[in-house]
Amino acid sequence: MEEDCIFCRIVAGKVPSEIRYRDEEVIAFRDINPKAPIHLLIVSKKHIPSLLQITQAESLLIGHMVTVANELAKKEGVSEKGYRLIINCGKEGGQLVPHLHMHFLAGRKLSDKLG
Ligand code: 5GP
Ligand code: ZN
Repeated sequence: MEEDCIFCRIVAGKVPSEIRYRDEEVIAFRDINPKAPIHLLIVSKKHIPSLLQITQAESLLIGHMVTVANELAKKEGVSEKGYRLIINCGKEGGQLVPHLHMHFLAGRKLSDKLG
């Protein structure tokens, strides 16, 4: 773990968060500054700075994160209504926390505008 990484600290339980899901590979918790009624972050337990580090070896992890999103949608009761997954990468992609995470947004009609 990276001592100065906020998501590593959350994964290690050193910073409190509202955890909704946890397994060997990932955890999911509520975003501290929600952009939708349901805003969860699906976070790799391993410190991977961004999508830039994803190679074929990590492609299973990304697939797993999507599966977890599907599970969370069921848990949150939004499978039928729908949800949005976002991974920001780099400065112009809007990434603020340099530890791989996927945003799960749901609970209202999200904007048609993506960028
Ligand atoms: P990014 O812009 O890197 O894609 O998204 C980072 C997200 O992490 C933001 O939506 C922000 O609100 C959330 N965040 C940052 N620090 C914390 C924290 O300490 N706890 C929680 N639960 N979310 C955080
Ligand atoms: Zn980290």
